[in-house]
Amino acid sequence: MFVVMAPAATEDQINAVKSHILSEGLAAHESRGVERVVIAALGEVGPRKEVLASRFAALPGVESVTPISRPFKLTSREFHPEDTVVDVRGVRIGDGSLTIMAGPCSVESREQLFETAEAVAAAGARVLRGGAFKPRTSPYSFQGLGLQGLRLLAEARERTGLPVVTEVMEPAQVDLVAEYADIVQVGARNMQNYSLLMAVGRIAKPVLLKRGFAGTIEEWLMSAEYVMSSGNPNVILCERGIRTFETYTRNTLDLGAVPLLHHLTHLPVVVDPSHATGKRFLVKPLVLAGVAAGADGAIVEVHPRPEEALSDGEQSLTLDQFREIMALVGPVHAAVASLHSESVLSGSALRVGGGRH
Ligand code: PEP
Ligand code: MN
Repeated sequence: MFVVMAPAATEDQINAVKSHILSEGLAAHESRGVERVVIAALGEVGPRKEVLASRFAALPGVESVTPISRPFKLTSREFHPEDTVVDVRGVRIGDGSLTIMAGPCSVESREQLFETAEAVAAAGARVLRGGAFKPRTSPYSFQGLGLQGLRLLAEARERTGLPVVTEVMEPAQVDLVAEYADIVQVGARNMQNYSLLMAVGRIAKPVLLKRGFAGTIEEWLMSAEYVMSSGNPNVILCERGIRTFETYTRNTLDLGAVPLLHHLTHLPVVVDPSHATGKRFLVKPLVLAGVAAGADGAIVEVHPRPEEALSDGEQSLTLDQFREIMALVGPVHAAVASLHSESVLSGSALRVGGGRH
């Protein structure tokens, strides 16, 4: 349940409510909004629910106590009406600006990575992507350069100033990847790897959480909930296509998820048209469509010579194609900027503090 504090509640009253929640064997998570503090009391309450709600409601400084009707709590707009802004070395994701992340599917060599990194930085990308540990469908395919790939990404960051995002595949690798990466990616195949989600929930780096091929929006938000409830509030959701009956495209980009997520959650949302379509000629229209739908950014695969790529060459943009997209997205983003502010309004319209949902 959410304990909504009165706008005039004192720090002592807020702390007393949190201690009370803990003494009932529940976890207390605080959200500081512009007007008021909301404290989520989370855990299995069973039949004690009503008794607890009236006890919390009677504490000094409490304005109201509302049951949380959705299964996802910390990720919900009800808990945190304002948009979460994830700050990655000064790049702000979720503040209404547009963040394009770009780079190769896999880090293959110093030359390939640096050539790509410099070109995407010059074209206006704000984050460099590149896989070092690669989740490949076949065990015989290129598996990534591992630690060497992480080191090259760190060097590319030094050269270009771009923060880097790279995937982590297992809990035991989380500390290593987090040492090099600025954003740690959890891939589609691991969206429901709960031990991995809890492990990335314990680090101090933002997490890019991709949607699983067959993940519903609710399952995806529950996965984000694992990360947040483990202590990491900086989650970026990435819609990367879901598996449908269609086979012309690798996956189907669920564009409706973008405005829906902005309604349901305060977390930033980006789209990945490269993995969604599997075809480079479809990436441009779907980057533009994702941005038009209100995405906070896009992540795309770029390779100086896609025909030589060790993974995902078919969907990798050439450097020229990437530059062309960068010239087009700005005006589209500017034209739909108001979508973003509307989604914030819809969050306030959920009436946190009004006592009813
Ligand atoms: C990737 O971004 O490198 C990747 C493997 O993507 P996904 O997990 O979406 O398939
Ligand atoms: Mn790829």
